Amino acid sequence: MDPTGNPVSPMEQSLHAARALVLADLVAGQVAEADVVSLVEESVVQRRWWVEQWPEGRDYVAGLVAQDVQDALLERHGRWPLCPVCGSGDPHALDVEPELGPDPHWVCHKAGVKVASVGSLGSAAGGAPPS
Ligand SMILES: [Zn+2]
Repeated sequence: MDPTGNPVSPMEQSLHAARALVLADLVAGQVAEADVVSLVEESVVQRRWWVEQWPEGRDYVAGLVAQDVQDALLERHGRWPLCPVCGSGDPHALDVEPELGPDPHWVCHKAGVKVASVGSLGSAAGGAPPS
């Protein structure tokens, strides 16, 4: 990091991107209320600390923020994001894969499918898949 205030560091870019991606998925799930947005902010603050300790992990931040928010929502609001793929059976949440890696995406373990990249849940949930 550059203390003299150089433009935006790659780390900050990753954190910004992670925040934007997770917020996009929250909007898609219609749970982007003020208190939920603050959960994202909290997670970003914690992950900023984390990625300062381990700069190589900056590509993993989006997946981690998504999981943080998912955990926090489970306590306060319930499961998120609900699986848009399985039309019947018990409602269940999607999981982030990889848990710690670049290019995170949402998967349904029940159906065994990738549903969408983190940040693209809106396009996956919007229209029913052709059958
Ligand atoms: Zn499912």
